[in-house]
Amino acid sequence: MPKTAARSGENGAGEAETVRYLNPNVLNLGVSATLKINELSNELVRQGRTVYKFGLGQSPFPVPEAVVRALRLYAPQKDYLPVNGLPALREAVASFHSRKDLVDISPAHVIVGPGSKELLFLLQLVFNGDVIIPGPGWVSYRPQASILGKRIKVLHTRFEEKWMITPGLLEKAAGEDTGPKLLILNYPGNPDGVSYQRSQLKELVEVARRHNIFILSDEIYGQLHHKGKHISIARDYPEGTIISSGLSKWCGAGGWRLGTFSFPPDLKWLMDAMSVVASETYTSVSAPIQYAAVQAFSADAELENYLWHARRILSLLGNQITDMLLGAGVKLHKPEGAFYLFLDFTELADKLAGRKITTPEELCSRLLDETGVALLPGSVFNRPPGDMTARLAYVDFDGARALAASVNTPLHEPLPDDFISHYCRKVIKGTEKMVEWLR
Ligand code: PMP
Ligand code: GLU
Repeated sequence: MPKTAARSGENGAGEAETVRYLNPNVLNLGVSATLKINELSNELVRQGRTVYKFGLGQSPFPVPEAVVRALRLYAPQKDYLPVNGLPALREAVASFHSRKDLVDISPAHVIVGPGSKELLFLLQLVFNGDVIIPGPGWVSYRPQASILGKRIKVLHTRFEEKWMITPGLLEKAAGEDTGPKLLILNYPGNPDGVSYQRSQLKELVEVARRHNIFILSDEIYGQLHHKGKHISIARDYPEGTIISSGLSKWCGAGGWRLGTFSFPPDLKWLMDAMSVVASETYTSVSAPIQYAAVQAFSADAELENYLWHARRILSLLGNQITDMLLGAGVKLHKPEGAFYLFLDFTELADKLAGRKITTPEELCSRLLDETGVALLPGSVFNRPPGDMTARLAYVDFDGARALAASVNTPLHEPLPDDFISHYCRKVIKGTEKMVEWLR
């Protein structure tokens, strides 16, 4: 048997041999870009470099204290839990969606998984149809679909339309063929930080309903809408929407690995098929994490307060660096949620070409080498090759310190002028470095 994996084959012959033993769907894939840039950034830091870690999109804020307390309390829980999740958690998730999103979800229609990423993979695995994804859109949508050998349609959205999927684009993707289709919608958006208005969602629903398109609505950043005004598309398309949520973003617990999907009754058969695969693969999510998550999904004044402070800080910081980058000639939209900006360098293309930078990969690699700023190129977010775009995750600051300081200023009052430069210094410094480099 060959001893090396295809990608690490040391010579052509070894590689050719191992390639025969690998599923062709994974042959040309590498480790996910977000995780790779994080490891590279950490390695550079170990070597003594200063790195502005704007690559991985990880919440800067700590897990709320009450949720950490719950995890401590439930650490002794050691039994395997039901495949679909702890009943109390499924109830808490269902009432979370009725409270926050005003949609009626039955606890029996909630599935808990080890991250919404894994649930998304299972959904695509059990769904027999095409997958429609946005471009720009989150890094893992396309590789997951490719691993599963799905037919993928990328909706190429435009800067001028705030990177949003328009009814026209969706209509075109639906086309003439009447086969089953799954649209992955995500807002507040990764990588663009923008969100949809209800009227825009209604227009998409009209097309989806007419073409019988199911929607996986990735609302993992819903609670990080900067104004607390997230609206789930499930309100207007209850029968066709699966809502994705989890602890990773609004609860700061990416590493805890817990995600949830909530189904309408009409799509319960999809959930049942996912449970079968879950039962034969990961069994169930870690018991203590599920017990602690009940606390996170429950109505709780402390958690609401945490969210309002997190939103206020993210909004102020996101807007401040947006203004700095606009001043440097980068095209971008004001952030509305989450912690990402999607930078369009088109207007600086000639200047960059003069420095022999003609692709977003070269842009990101030169920027990292010459300034220490780590971004991810637009290509990993489904932008066409050569499209001069990149994602900036404005998360490189101590969220615990920033939160502790924010609570000293009542929410109805503005934060002090120097708040951001003081508590989010590294994000400002990294942005200044970029602006200087672009000059
Ligand atoms: N969707 C989007 C848009 C994301 O940014 C992420 C990144 N965490 C995920 C899904 C997956 O999240 P998790 O698996 O941590 O729930
Ligand atoms: N969602 C994060 C990001 O876009 C990364 C986490 C992951 O890929 O699992 O950077």
